[in-house]
Amino acid sequence: MADLEEFFSDLHIHSAYSKATSPEMRIENISRIAKMKGLDLMGTGDCLNQKWIEEIKSKLEVSGEEIRDPKYGVNYILTVEVEDINRVHHLIILPEISSAQSMAEEFGSSDEGRPKVKMGAPEIVEIVKEFEGEIGPSHAFTPWTSVYKEFNSLRDCYQEELRNVNFVELGLSASTEMADRISELSRFTFLSNSDAHSPKADKLGREFNSFLIEEPTFKEVSMAIKRKNKRKVGLNFGLDPRIGKYFLTACVRCHKRYSREEAESINWKCKCGGRIKKGVKDRIDELADLTKPRSPKHRPPYIGGVPLIEAISFLEGKSLSSRVVYTKWMEILEKFGSEIEILVKADLSELSSLGKLSKLIDDMRGGKLKVFPGGGGEYGKLL
Ligand SMILES: [Zn+2]
Ligand SMILES: [Zn+2]
Repeated sequence: MADLEEFFSDLHIHSAYSKATSPEMRIENISRIAKMKGLDLMGTGDCLNQKWIEEIKSKLEVSGEEIRDPKYGVNYILTVEVEDINRVHHLIILPEISSAQSMAEEFGSSDEGRPKVKMGAPEIVEIVKEFEGEIGPSHAFTPWTSVYKEFNSLRDCYQEELRNVNFVELGLSASTEMADRISELSRFTFLSNSDAHSPKADKLGREFNSFLIEEPTFKEVSMAIKRKNKRKVGLNFGLDPRIGKYFLTACVRCHKRYSREEAESINWKCKCGGRIKKGVKDRIDELADLTKPRSPKHRPPYIGGVPLIEAISFLEGKSLSSRVVYTKWMEILEKFGSEIEILVKADLSELSSLGKLSKLIDDMRGGKLKVFPGGGGEYGKLL
């Protein structure tokens, strides 16, 4: 057996063919930013969309399971998010373009990058298994279109097909520590992906995983998800869950934060007239059968942080779109090679030239960031 290597990966993005997605979500932009971030393996997103598949075939080198952008050295595997008949989102990972094309036919054609499939979750899982793909719930706890929004347990959603589900995507407002208070989740591999709708430096790769695998292909990733032949996820890097925009229960219009009890007492209607959305923190409290997290042995470390450009913007006191912030980001990347090198790989001593930024990265790695928590669709922010 060849040695296992660590590949950094973001498996959930959307192409320009998905609703409310930036027209900039094209292969060359995705590859370019992925390379700067240090992401070795990207999910294609939207792989049931024929136009996106055409773009993949014309811009990438495809040979069976291997899909690669030779210009940037970034690899891809086929992924897509679908919405089922109960409005639950699922992330699907597939072996080959031919499997994506046949699956698109089974689901009924759609121009949408993220198609709505007129089937329940068990039926969708059966089809994914036919094509030897992997499937799991996307952003499992968000108060929209997620498995725990619609159901109180994974079994209620996937029924007898739950045995063919091997991963759960945590989503931006949740962490391993939070999810491991729900004991039904202990057998599942957690994935942390960006769900990026634009290739901006604060979106693409804002969450990622490391896979300990032989090569960046579907077969290897599938083994890692199932934790077979020593393959596994080595690290989950997520946005600090408090920065997620649905962390606390809050009004979607004026963003006033509420406790779950308060929200219930006023029937989830804010004084401003807006609706109150239950935060991921409160939803997990409701679902949890453990007061303290109990992580299984196989669970990898989790780091909750922010994208590098966001850390720079915070320390400079300037907006993300500011020239100064962007220039500084580029300078730092040039010096260290990639964002992931700085955020997770480099020893702190190597980062000392970064001054305040190295302290912030140390806090990130140690789970000590100071954060004003998000809610009701408003992102949290560093303090
Ligand atoms: Zn989704
Ligand atoms: Zn309000």
